[in-house]
Amino acid sequence: MGAVILRGGRVLGDEAADIRLTAEGRIAAIRPTGTDTAPVPCIDIDGLVVLPAFVDLHTHLREPGSEDSETIASGTRAAAAGGFSDVFAMANSRPVTDTPDRVSWIARTAARVGAARVHPVGAITTNLEGTSPAPLAAMAKTGARMFSDDGRCVDDADILRRALLAARTSGTVIAQHAQCRHLAGQGQVNAGPAAERTGLTPWPHVAEETVVARDVILAGESGGRLHVCHVSTAGTVGIVRWAKNNGWPVTAEVAPHHLLLTDDLASDANPLYKVNPPLRSATDVKVLRSALRDGTIDAVATDHAPHTSRSKAADWCHAPFGMLGLEAALSVVAEVLRRDGAPDWPRIAQVMSHQPARIGSLDTAGRPLTAHEPATFTLVDPQADWQVDPLDLHSLSHNTPFTARVFHNRVKATVVDGHVTHDAAGLLRTTTDEESPR
Ligand SMILES: [Zn+2]
Repeated sequence: MGAVILRGGRVLGDEAADIRLTAEGRIAAIRPTGTDTAPVPCIDIDGLVVLPAFVDLHTHLREPGSEDSETIASGTRAAAAGGFSDVFAMANSRPVTDTPDRVSWIARTAARVGAARVHPVGAITTNLEGTSPAPLAAMAKTGARMFSDDGRCVDDADILRRALLAARTSGTVIAQHAQCRHLAGQGQVNAGPAAERTGLTPWPHVAEETVVARDVILAGESGGRLHVCHVSTAGTVGIVRWAKNNGWPVTAEVAPHHLLLTDDLASDANPLYKVNPPLRSATDVKVLRSALRDGTIDAVATDHAPHTSRSKAADWCHAPFGMLGLEAALSVVAEVLRRDGAPDWPRIAQVMSHQPARIGSLDTAGRPLTAHEPATFTLVDPQADWQVDPLDLHSLSHNTPFTARVFHNRVKATVVDGHVTHDAAGLLRTTTDEESPR
């Protein structure tokens, strides 16, 4: 953007301020609005909330292997549109990211085509088969900061324990998709009324909780960092709280859909609401929200899982699990994380930016919005009233569960190190940009 003053922005929802950026993509100063008189161009962002750009610990970019549902280019465009500067790309591509070469291929490709920074997640086991450990140390040397077999659960406790020990040595983190295959079986919907009404195979909450209970014990014993993916039940929240009270190195994330939607939606067996773990009860949703507020759950992670319209048009049992998440995440979180009737912006910055950056060991993302820090931020319109239209999204796929829903907060622009990565309304265009179109 060059040296510029953004006039009237509300940092973390605070009083309006002048935010001056340096030509090198850093924040020069933040002052009360109208008081910065530096001789640089001004852009009016009156009333927009300024947040540190978001970090997603859980994105499925689908490339390589399923480029008809998403690519690194389209998925990172969706990320930028959702206010994200950084995403962690899950390992369950085809081929699986289970070698140093594949880790570097993703990093290289994303550096070339990505609209957001991409951090490849390495697999815990070769080809996600759960039987032989992947080369974690070598992948960590190539830049993988997180390891996960997400999509599948690492059943073997000894393999998980060894992965935690390797994570401890390399300063990385093990992210587990907790699903006991013996208890969940071919589970399709939350056990309870939704399963009874549809006749679909139940996916009981204990199938998640028993695995999380085992895993946190292994984290405590090994000293390796465990991150619990997409917490979906009240019982899991209790286990994570217990682990943290014991001082064990455990963190947890929740997905936007689990904060807003309940298993009622699955009653019609519309595959748009098919997700793994499944949508849960209203009680679970309530407990997840308060756990995000009180810090038991550290972060929001989207579990952005694009699928082609064709595959989602199949009947429930044949349709794949998963929902889009990146582009509506902020809108959902601003709706559920409130204080005194308004979005709790400081807490939102914690759970969408600072904490995920810390969990993923990123030093350049999730930074505070203060002088000398990188100009990496997201502008949110708190009076947007936007209706989600799947055809307007940047993702190649359209499987959002929020179609036609109206949200009041919307990401308007994203800036990473002073570079505009999303600006649909042209808010951040200066006159010089207009004179020299690229
Ligand atoms: Zn998962």
